[in-house]
Amino acid sequence: MSAIYIHIPFCRQKCAYCAFCSFAKSEDKIDEYIFHLTKEIESFNYDKVEGIDTIYIGGGTPSLLKTYQLKRIFDALYKKFKVKKDAEITIECNPNSLTLAKAKFYNKLGINRVSLGVQSLDKNNLKLIERLHSPSKALKAIDILKESGIENISVDLLIGLKESFSSFAFHLQQLIEKGVKHFSLYMLQIERGTKLEKLVNENRDLLLNDDACVEFYQKAVEFLKKNRFLQYEISNFALRGFESRHNIKYWTGSEYVGFGMSAHSFFSGKRFANSSNFKEYYQGKREFCEQLTLQDRIEELIMLGLRCSYGTSKKDLKNLGYNIEENANFLELVKQKIIKEKGDRFYLNPSFYGVSNDIIIKLLP
Ligand code: SF4
Repeated sequence: MSAIYIHIPFCRQKCAYCAFCSFAKSEDKIDEYIFHLTKEIESFNYDKVEGIDTIYIGGGTPSLLKTYQLKRIFDALYKKFKVKKDAEITIECNPNSLTLAKAKFYNKLGINRVSLGVQSLDKNNLKLIERLHSPSKALKAIDILKESGIENISVDLLIGLKESFSSFAFHLQQLIEKGVKHFSLYMLQIERGTKLEKLVNENRDLLLNDDACVEFYQKAVEFLKKNRFLQYEISNFALRGFESRHNIKYWTGSEYVGFGMSAHSFFSGKRFANSSNFKEYYQGKREFCEQLTLQDRIEELIMLGLRCSYGTSKKDLKNLGYNIEENANFLELVKQKIIKEKGDRFYLNPSFYGVSNDIIIKLLP
């Protein structure tokens, strides 16, 4: 295990589309939360832990934390684990709560990558989804990060909001010119019980329809490709050398441990998640804990691997008892160049990412 995830479940305000484990207007609870979070880190049984080379602080809005609060978490991490010198350490930030003083402090702590929740640079869309920042604040956040010395900047954007593609491309261009090295483009999901669900039920025309979303996504893929961004996962694009090392571990089946409310882990053959309820989390309760069967492991390796450019190792599957080269569907898909092979690994031709689910099903044992 060499990857750690930390969950910070606090946000200044709940965005209209959000169904993540995050709580608004609860900033007075942060100190108590950090007390329990650091206790969890300290009591982790780490017999099998190697040097840590990726840490990801996600949320929620980790940039809401005051510097002393973040320091407490890092002190606990560094006391408990051997963090490698060249570790990739990412923090998610919201343009609204990022300041130059915080960014400089991140740099001092060893944080060397920031994932910025921009979501859109269209002011009407930002209003619709109830983000607290303006387009100019988002662009300013990138300047702040660069001034602090953090160059490895990723930006999250949503696809599905009503906007012409030329306007979206203009915004992508602005972000590229600002020095963004990585993009995550997510399809906007209408989650149950959110404000956005209510709004869309009242007016279907608020968002792009499914076909328009697919077309938008394909154009965005092309646009980023022309600008030297490699698509290394269905939703993720990076300039060479700026791929998220942490996320690659999720997609290639490596072990990781999550600390904090609702944080998931895959460790010692088990998948488990902490409770999403403050009281239960503080009592050490889990949402679930399951021992993965060989079949589960095989399915995960195929499902995760085929969504990214690293693909899946045939040898890893064989070690789990599945020889994929004996699957007639696999041989046929290779013949049709839908599945490509490189040494021991096989991966999905990116032109078929849009139908990846149908292909994955054909490859399962
Ligand atoms: S900032 Fe992120 S986690 Fe917080 S409410 Fe908005 S979408 Fe949810």
